[in-house]
Amino acid sequence: MNSPLVPNYARVPLAFERGEGSWLVTRRGERFLDLGSGIAVNNLGHAHPHLVEALKAQAEKLWHVSNLFEIPEGERLAQRLVEKSFADQVMFCNSGAEANEAAIKMARRYHYLKGQPERYRILTFEGAFHGRTLGTIAAGGQAKYLEGFGPKAEGFDQVPFGDHEAMRAAVTPETAAIMIEPIQGEGGVRDVPHVCLRGLRELCDETGTLLIYDEVQTGFGRTGKLFAYEWAGAAPDIMAVAKALGGGFPLGAVLATQDAASGLTAGSHGTTFGGNPLAMAVGNAVLDVVEEPGFLDHVNRAGLILRQRLAELRDRFPDIIAEIRGSALMTGVRLNIPNADFVAATRAQNLLCIPAGDNVVRLYPPLTISEDNLQEATRRIEAACIALQDGMSQAARAGASA
Ligand SMILES: *Cc1c(COP(=O)(O)O)cnc(C)c1O
Repeated sequence: MNSPLVPNYARVPLAFERGEGSWLVTRRGERFLDLGSGIAVNNLGHAHPHLVEALKAQAEKLWHVSNLFEIPEGERLAQRLVEKSFADQVMFCNSGAEANEAAIKMARRYHYLKGQPERYRILTFEGAFHGRTLGTIAAGGQAKYLEGFGPKAEGFDQVPFGDHEAMRAAVTPETAAIMIEPIQGEGGVRDVPHVCLRGLRELCDETGTLLIYDEVQTGFGRTGKLFAYEWAGAAPDIMAVAKALGGGFPLGAVLATQDAASGLTAGSHGTTFGGNPLAMAVGNAVLDVVEEPGFLDHVNRAGLILRQRLAELRDRFPDIIAEIRGSALMTGVRLNIPNADFVAATRAQNLLCIPAGDNVVRLYPPLTISEDNLQEATRRIEAACIALQDGMSQAARAGASA
């Protein structure tokens, strides 16, 4: 049958009608344990009462006014983000790619206004993912996302992942910024070592280069800190966030020091929807929950439990599980079988997880997942491993008897 939708997604034939915390429920009433969280978006689970209430209350008052006017709830959310981070100022937008675009534009304009318009090049790591706009596919540099979309946007260079010396050598008088994910998400939950992050900070300070972190996937508690950079103690000048900030409502933001943000003077950049009252109501509600005492302790404890159980499964099923990666509930499992097979086998156990690069699957439960549901998740992963192992031994027997 011909779908009315553009064929740019290979969708799983499953449609959910509602969500309850860590569970998604299909129209036929089948329940799936959600270890994908809408790709690190539904960090507070589905239909969180505080978020539902905030969105409903705002929906009855005011949806949108445009950035021609003041939006007090946006100022409040910006102030809260400033207090919780390295940043002095915040600009809101609607998605991760848009936040990264703004970060890139901010960095270039910064040097331009300092009388160095030639400093426009951006350095990134191989395997990066920064979004799907023309600018961010150039920043990510992955051939599969660039193919067929015309000339790659000028001014982006890549060095091998985590190669500090290559990064140092690549900084030239034309470099505006180094832009990296503290832990690569799409690239396969690969963390940049903390000493490397600190080294990049020093390199940027020495050379007057701006350091941009893309925390679109790592931000808002997934790694066990509010922001992943806190683990390394190396703050950026500019940071893009999105995904979990809106908990499912489209919302992104660029956080920056006042100096770095100074390039985006009035009229130089903008967005119609960015930071509208609906989004700001939800963003403030998300922060209410994330700021509750003990929230991050729960994330770290849950991360430890998940990691221990996965390590046991790796020891039991070494032909399937190769390596456990990541931090807290930003969990990656590198596989010795195709990751698509693992995703299918877990789905057969009514558990949802997400493939990533480097033959990894991401296990990203809502950060609010209960210990019972986490144990249930690991039982389902175990059942999937047993089914995969049975399938492999049957195939081996068939091969031997053929
Ligand atoms: C998802 C993601 C993006 C892109 O975000 P969109 O909202 O899809 O535009 C950018 N960077 C990282 C690290 C991401 O995980």
